[in-house]
Amino acid sequence: MAIDSFNSFKKFTNELALQDQLMPVLFVGHGSPMNGIEDNEFSKTWSVMAQQLVVPKAVLVISAHWFTRGTHITAMDFPPTIHDFGGFPKALYEVQYPAPGNPLLATETAEMIHSTNVGLSHDWGLDHGAWSIVKHMYPLANIPVLQLSIDYTKDAQWHFELAKEIYDLRKKGVLIIGSGNMVHNLRMVAWDKLNEPGFAYDWASEMNNTFKQLISQKHYNALIRYEQLGHEASLAIPTPEHYLPLIYTLGLSQKEEAVSFFNDKAVGGSLTMTSVQIG
Ligand code: ZN
Repeated sequence: MAIDSFNSFKKFTNELALQDQLMPVLFVGHGSPMNGIEDNEFSKTWSVMAQQLVVPKAVLVISAHWFTRGTHITAMDFPPTIHDFGGFPKALYEVQYPAPGNPLLATETAEMIHSTNVGLSHDWGLDHGAWSIVKHMYPLANIPVLQLSIDYTKDAQWHFELAKEIYDLRKKGVLIIGSGNMVHNLRMVAWDKLNEPGFAYDWASEMNNTFKQLISQKHYNALIRYEQLGHEASLAIPTPEHYLPLIYTLGLSQKEEAVSFFNDKAVGGSLTMTSVQIG
């Protein structure tokens, strides 16, 4: 490493170390990509919430939509806005969220993780699991945003342990957001009831309540072993990518921290937007 970049690396890590306040950690239900451009009850909550939080030095998103072999972190200066969806209005494809990255923070984060070798990615960017939320929170795009991928070869326990390894980022002013949906079954969406506010199938509202109860009571083991939560859980989590970001959020929290829920609402019967702030 050249002396200049080494010095700026030291300066940056020192700057990040000097913080008394512990950043909260979030799980955010992102739902439809349209939330990225709509001014609706969900996106309004994201915007209001950001105004109530301490301004972070950086944002790190663990998105359901970066599901990879191995763990990777975005390490480019300027992560491109990725339009990773099909069949939406043109306006959604035109969204650009030009937040910078932070290659030094990416390197520092990768070095905190010892359970696996974290790849420094120059291929990804910000997918809609990240930008659809963060764009409403920090519309000026002046805070660095990074993404950490989810290794699809690993189980929930492994992800829970990995999350603990990056806990210290919370002490350094980094806002970490797990972005998915607790109840997420696209095949069972009641498309004819998408506009019926809060419509949920019985199993979906049951699971939503179970998830909230287990999170409030800090029964994290039950949430990690979600396959043992019964038939409703298998309907809520037909595939794990939208659920595992929640496991990161839990792994990043401490037992004594306060838990609060927001956007606690179902959409189209088989999705919930239910989100959590811890700390
Ligand atoms: Zn999604």
